[in-house]
Amino acid sequence: MSVSASTISKAVRIDKHGGPEELKLVDVEVGEPGPGEIRIRHKAIGLNFIDIYQRSGLYQLPMPLQMGMEASGVIEAVGEGVSHLQVGDRAAYASQPPGSYCELRVMPAKCVCKLPDAISFETGAAMMLKGLTAQYLLRRTLPQGGLQAGDFILFHAAAGGVGLIACQWARALGLQLIGTAGSDEKCALAKQMGAAHVINYSTEDFVARVKEITGGKGVKVVYDSVGKDTFDRSLDCLSPFGLMASFGNASGPVAPFSPGILGPKGSIYVTRQTLFSHITTRENTQAMADELFDMVVSGKVEIRIDQRFASADVALAHRSMEERKTTGCSILTL
Ligand code: NDP
Repeated sequence: MSVSASTISKAVRIDKHGGPEELKLVDVEVGEPGPGEIRIRHKAIGLNFIDIYQRSGLYQLPMPLQMGMEASGVIEAVGEGVSHLQVGDRAAYASQPPGSYCELRVMPAKCVCKLPDAISFETGAAMMLKGLTAQYLLRRTLPQGGLQAGDFILFHAAAGGVGLIACQWARALGLQLIGTAGSDEKCALAKQMGAAHVINYSTEDFVARVKEITGGKGVKVVYDSVGKDTFDRSLDCLSPFGLMASFGNASGPVAPFSPGILGPKGSIYVTRQTLFSHITTRENTQAMADELFDMVVSGKVEIRIDQRFASADVALAHRSMEERKTTGCSILTL
């Protein structure tokens, strides 16, 4: 079958796990959407720390792998059985499986949402994976009895993509978010964006500071995406029956531990969360996205795009994220 020019897309792919040098810009053929699928022409692409895990091999995936988990664009074709999207719709998504680092792709429609007119393509591309993550963490990953206004929570990497959204969302909920970050500049940014308190965990003992800030009581939830470097000490920041919500491994995976250590710390709970458990159905995805869209359109949450990279500079983008040089969200422009 002959392929028309409109079905060729530039895409970023890896043929094996490794460093940023494995990211290759290639041409791929894009076909028609099958049942339950859509074809979307991207306007902007979101960058996420999970992309690093998938590239490096911390998360092992079949090769070759077209990378990327998040983007926005215009719906170009709709497969059988898809009723919530039409050709010409502006849309955005966080996707499993990966594949968003491209101009054009066919993908499952159930994870794709119509983008409100008030939200730009760049913002849409930057906010879906990170914003839906902040949503499920603060609204669905809760300690016994839930969270009430005034409660303390600890949020690591608070000046990052998910972190700055969480700072603002927590402020809107009346929560006292204690944010950690790796430099004084990042701490100042997290505070400006809604953290009630900030701790530079490169220079300060965050356990001691949390105890000080909370008058010795500890926090109700720790949201920990840093992993190896913070997990053990994060457990010591919790109040009795508090919840440790582990959701990432920016510093490396968490070491195995015995549940026996949780009793003496106050019968605390530990969970490992992933967005993709929360967005398995179209209904859940849309409900979570609607809440996120409301927060953004109302101005309660600003999606800061602090880094824009050309698609050809994707390796530089990965290096910047890995070297902790970024704040807020990063996107690839097309
Ligand atoms: P970020 O923009 O937050 O970047 C990661 C940040 O982690 C860095 O900027 C850095 O901030 C901090 N960090 C701490 N230690 C290290 C280290 N050794 N190497 C690199 N970074 C380090 O990324 P995202 O907003 O994309 O994601 C935030 C986290 O949430 C990631 O760990 C990601 O994997 C996780 N995540 C999990 C999801 C889930 O559902 N489970 C979904 C989405 C994201 P600083 O310099 O301030 O320490």
